[in-house]
Amino acid sequence: MSKKIIIAIDGFSSCGKSTLAKALATKLEYVFIDTGAMYRAIALYFLRNQIAFDDQVAIQNALQNIQLHFAYNPVTLKSDMYLNGENVELLIREMKVSSKVSEVAAIGLVRDFAVAQQQAMGAQKGIVMDGRDIGTVVFPNAELKIFVTADPAIRANRRYLELQATNPAITMEEVADNLQHRDLIDSTREHSPLKQAADALVLDNSHITREAQFELALNWAKERISLA
Ligand code: C5P
Repeated sequence: MSKKIIIAIDGFSSCGKSTLAKALATKLEYVFIDTGAMYRAIALYFLRNQIAFDDQVAIQNALQNIQLHFAYNPVTLKSDMYLNGENVELLIREMKVSSKVSEVAAIGLVRDFAVAQQQAMGAQKGIVMDGRDIGTVVFPNAELKIFVTADPAIRANRRYLELQATNPAITMEEVADNLQHRDLIDSTREHSPLKQAADALVLDNSHITREAQFELALNWAKERISLA
């Protein structure tokens, strides 16, 4: 049997990282972890419990009361995010959370908390993880690192169409502003900012189909697996 590797997929918001990561994981029979969902669940907890983002003691205490896990949903055929036993998969995608998650994810204590869990999840390899700092901080030795990019207008349009399905009132401007806001915070924060790892392969999916993107990434994965 071939050796299992770690596949790290990073990039800006709404580049289609999760779609690609999920498809690769399914094909390779690997575990898929959406690390953005973890930061979103933590942000939801902070918002619900009115945790001030600059109160280190309150943050430390709050993190002690947060338990995160993923569980497979046989209806959607995807893993859902659970916060303290509650399925929060839909709630964490709402704009209320999206508009604050990057501020929460910029907090050092929050990153330490999430990264430790992510590293434990990848200890056995055979994992595809998507996020912002997977190839740089979480798994700097990942056998395959992919940095996904796409034109900002195309990203906003894709996200808008996706969100409209559950929130018909949402506007394109709101979506584009949120992406820009998150990208700016994510790439300029002090703790593990979003940046391309030196050894990452860049995948610009602005003008290629999902299928073509998948084939390209799958070939990279097969090549790295054969070398492992
Ligand atoms: O991937 P998604 O867009 O759902 O992530 C939500 C937010 O979580 C991002 O905008 C970013 O602020 C944060 N995040 C992060 N590091 C990761 C994954 C997500 O800072 N590894």
